[in-house]
Amino acid sequence: MSEGEFLLHGAVLVFDHDAARELLLGLARNLEEVGLVALSPIRVALEGNRLIPEELLGHVSDGDYPLLAARAEEQALDAPLLWTLTQSALKPALRAWCGELAPLVHTTGVWESACCFICGAPASLGELQGNEQAKHLRCGQCGADWLIRRLQCIYCGNEDPSLLGILSPEGRRENVRVEVCDKCHGYLKVVARFAPASPEELAVEDLSTLSLDFFAQERGYRCPPLRRDGP
Ligand SMILES: [Zn+2]
Ligand SMILES: [Zn+2]
Repeated sequence: MSEGEFLLHGAVLVFDHDAARELLLGLARNLEEVGLVALSPIRVALEGNRLIPEELLGHVSDGDYPLLAARAEEQALDAPLLWTLTQSALKPALRAWCGELAPLVHTTGVWESACCFICGAPASLGELQGNEQAKHLRCGQCGADWLIRRLQCIYCGNEDPSLLGILSPEGRRENVRVEVCDKCHGYLKVVARFAPASPEELAVEDLSTLSLDFFAQERGYRCPPLRRDGP
């Protein structure tokens, strides 16, 4: 971590074939049932064993979108959709690793990156926690939580107050806002909460504030400004 590498970086992660297949299939079937018919070709490919589930999970945990996209293309499947489905299927494993690894390390003063110290995914939300409103970043993939400096862009480190701003669109919830940086054009949704959100609540919080993503993106901001993985 002191050299800027997240904990699972370079680790060879081993996934059980049957469990991975069952989880991916379960997710695909459930989503299809609630109307996401675009998943049907992926479900059929999984059922016909034309995809290797543990290999897909490996590509996502390595952040290797091109490799996963190549597999999708071979089978004439929607690559971004396959990536998103696999990303969801990876979450339970990442949360378990986070539960074991996070208590073993101190991140304060060591890790101030916008990417997760456990799994390397870009932070999905900021949280102002407790009475002191200490600023933390949260990982939507594994649930990790790390403290960061308040008055600094998490992406480019910019500390110039004239280039840091807050968007407060009308109709937003009182405790939610968007922090933006006019140097790198990154944005971060920040939620004030008394207690840290559970990993499940994080996903809900992220989805329930989608209008803020649109609001920021319409104004030319990106999250994260430079994508390191994903479609
Ligand atoms: Zn993470
Ligand atoms: Zn910035």
